[in-house]
Amino acid sequence: RKGTVIITGASSGLGLATAKALAETGKWHVIMACRDFLKAERAAKSAGISKENYTVMHLDLASFDSVRQFVANFKQSGQPLDVLVCNAAVYQPTAKEPTFTADGIELSVGTNHLGHFLLSRLLLDDMKKSDYPSKRLIIVGSITGNTNTLAGNVPPKASLGDMRGLAGGLNGLNSSTMIDGGKFDGAKAYKDSKICNMLTMQEFHRRYHEETGITFASLYPGCIATTGLFREHIPLFRLLFPPFQKFITKGYVSEEESGKRLAQVVSDPSLTKSGVYWSWNKDSASFENQLSEEASDVSKARKVWEISEKIVGLA
Ligand code: NDP
Repeated sequence: RKGTVIITGASSGLGLATAKALAETGKWHVIMACRDFLKAERAAKSAGISKENYTVMHLDLASFDSVRQFVANFKQSGQPLDVLVCNAAVYQPTAKEPTFTADGIELSVGTNHLGHFLLSRLLLDDMKKSDYPSKRLIIVGSITGNTNTLAGNVPPKASLGDMRGLAGGLNGLNSSTMIDGGKFDGAKAYKDSKICNMLTMQEFHRRYHEETGITFASLYPGCIATTGLFREHIPLFRLLFPPFQKFITKGYVSEEESGKRLAQVVSDPSLTKSGVYWSWNKDSASFENQLSEEASDVSKARKVWEISEKIVGLA
């Protein structure tokens, strides 16, 4: 049978390119889990993904109710779940003030980390039940987790501190909107959320890999400077960022190439190792990358897990 893969945020950028790469193999049915149904349908059509290879299902990661509803709908559909790709993200580098999810949580961490945390916890049972030979849960990371690159060291750097803001619920009322308890900074909130993504992947690996055989992995697909992720940046940045990445840092990858990379992490028989953070060298060969100290801190991973469980209502 075909494999079934759920990809969050498959309506543009990396998620769409990955959906296309997988659908084209004829071996996958892609569930595009998207907040904008019409946009996702249009994106699938214009990318040329054929109808029998995808389904769009509504998911707004900025609402715990929507996540739960998505999971209920998916379960009701009776399909097996073989691979889950947590890809969607928001990035608000120029925001002066925080915005909030439906549950009143700062939007970047609420969407990128907490929405995906709840989604993957609720879908773990479905993955356990699947008889697919290589089951995988993939969370898209970021270069913020590498300390071995220039780009990973650009300020404001991610830092979770003692997580007092996260423990307070990031609501901006009786707690800070930042995980470390500091003043709101949109660029930092995104980076912090990505550290949480990478810590979550490793904590999943420690808790569930042996018992379930599921591969838990994260990746940095390269700098895809043309995606919608930078839509809220100032126009000059958006103009100069792609050539800067192409010619100066040489970290630039096309959306198509990044989609092929993530598709490898989904289905390549040689990328089955669990607990790994994948990157690609300049010849587009995959390798196991080192995570930064904070992104591989075992006690922080446990703490993020435990606090997140409380916020999303699982503990
Ligand atoms: P895009 O902005 O093109 O894609 C992000 C996707 O997330 C969109 O489909 C968007 O939906 C979706 N999304 C946002 N908020 C929600 C929500 N509340 N519920 C459901 N879906 C939502 O950016 P990229 O393709 O670049 O980003 C994809 C991933 O790649 C992210 O995890 C990002 O952190 C990561 N990444 C990107 C890099 C880059 O250079 N671009 C580098 C490293 C990592 P909609 O279409 O409705 O807006």
